[in-house]
Amino acid sequence: MLSKRLDIISPSCTIGISTKVKNMRQSGIDVISLSIGEPDFNVPRKAIDCGINSLNENCTKYDLVPGLTILREEICKKLLEENNCKYSIDEIVLASGAKDAITNALLAVTDPGDEVLIPKPYWVSYWEMTKLVNAVPVAIETNKKNDFKLTADLLEKYINPKTKLLLLNNPSNPTGSVYTKEELREIVDVCIEKNIYILADEIYERICYNDEFISIASLGDDVKDITITVNGFAKSAAMTGLRLGYTASNKEIAKGMSAIQGHLVSHPSLTAQYIGYGALKYCKDDIDNMVETYKHRRDLVTTKLDAMKYVNYVYPNGAFYVFIDLSQVAKKYKYNESFSVEFCDEFLSKYNVAIVPGQAFGIDEYVRISYACSEEEFIEGLNRLEKFILEIMDTNN
Ligand code: PMP
Ligand code: GLU
Repeated sequence: MLSKRLDIISPSCTIGISTKVKNMRQSGIDVISLSIGEPDFNVPRKAIDCGINSLNENCTKYDLVPGLTILREEICKKLLEENNCKYSIDEIVLASGAKDAITNALLAVTDPGDEVLIPKPYWVSYWEMTKLVNAVPVAIETNKKNDFKLTADLLEKYINPKTKLLLLNNPSNPTGSVYTKEELREIVDVCIEKNIYILADEIYERICYNDEFISIASLGDDVKDITITVNGFAKSAAMTGLRLGYTASNKEIAKGMSAIQGHLVSHPSLTAQYIGYGALKYCKDDIDNMVETYKHRRDLVTTKLDAMKYVNYVYPNGAFYVFIDLSQVAKKYKYNESFSVEFCDEFLSKYNVAIVPGQAFGIDEYVRISYACSEEEFIEGLNRLEKFILEIMDTNN
């Protein structure tokens, strides 16, 4: 008899689709993947060299639980210079990916039964992680007219004595929406007044196209004190497989997370930490170039989508996703349980293009595409999507 925990969680849909793509490719099928959010760039050379040098110098032993001192110093420097947030190194805790950082944070601040507010659509793992720590995920219904962004008014409606934490992702996966300073100010004022923590997942913060990115913790010392900022190296430095993320929080929370991490993983891989150090210290220009490329791709993808019939979408100002509204198609498409899951399955098997069903993010009439892949791939993938949609609409008209 296995743990009941397994009965309440579902495997990650994004990881499931990327595994399917890998298997199809291994069996010789030429699949286009617009599914998983994984940069197609290599980790910048100077960052890799830092990792190689550390191995040559035999930096392979256990180290400090919250992470390498030089890396935490570099993160503090980055947070101050780029995000206008002043942290000391004992407020930074490295983790094995942002996923691990979020889990550490949830474990450190929630008790069983505490409610965690999650604006919908949400990144697939927030819901399951919350359940895994025995807290209760509560979805906040947002409005498409407002690009699915949370507002202070909405937030207030969901707060009750059991509410412990708000999980806010900015820029958002899956919508690419980015919050303005004013929008954030109103949200954080509610959190301060009602005494709830904020987990600010800012992993896409470097991939922000128009306005200046505002880090929640920069809004004032009172906000900073209740905020756990999560960031990582997977998206900005293309280090997905190296598994490195971190939190910035007050000292008490950081100490709690270190205590937890000391038992669960000790610390993330030292080699990954040296590479992360190199990425922060020496690779700002490489990262800026990646962001420029994503911006160019965003423009191409949205131009293509603008020309397509039966679709509309949330205009993305950050991250590398587009959340596409297929509600017109859903009305015509014959499905049993979930429109988006069945639509994406059929699209993959007929057209060899992988995209992610909106259901994974809590909204079934949508699909998510990622443009963290070559121009050639996403243009061809979108041409096939257009064909599939027209086929559905023509057949059933
Ligand atoms: N937060 C969001 C919003 C994400 O999209 C992802 C996916 N990478 C993560 C956290 C987890 O990142 P990591 O790969 O560093 O664990
Ligand atoms: N976060 C990325 C995505 O949404 C990577 C996959 C995952 O970890 O969920 O596609």
